[in-house]
Amino acid sequence: MSDKYEGDFYCVKCKEKRTAEGEIVVNAKGTRMAKGKCPVCGTNLNRILGKA
Ligand SMILES: [Zn+2]
Repeated sequence: MSDKYEGDFYCVKCKEKRTAEGEIVVNAKGTRMAKGKCPVCGTNLNRILGKA
């Protein structure tokens, strides 16, 4: 089961903050990241949430 994250992401393409829903993933270093998609331009958004 994957966790959901809903909140602010920074879109590098729009250069603005976007509120989006994403999926929480944990990378090889144990850092939790939220992966979402910009609702305006469709660019993939990443946000580092910190250690699990
Ligand atoms: Zn965007």
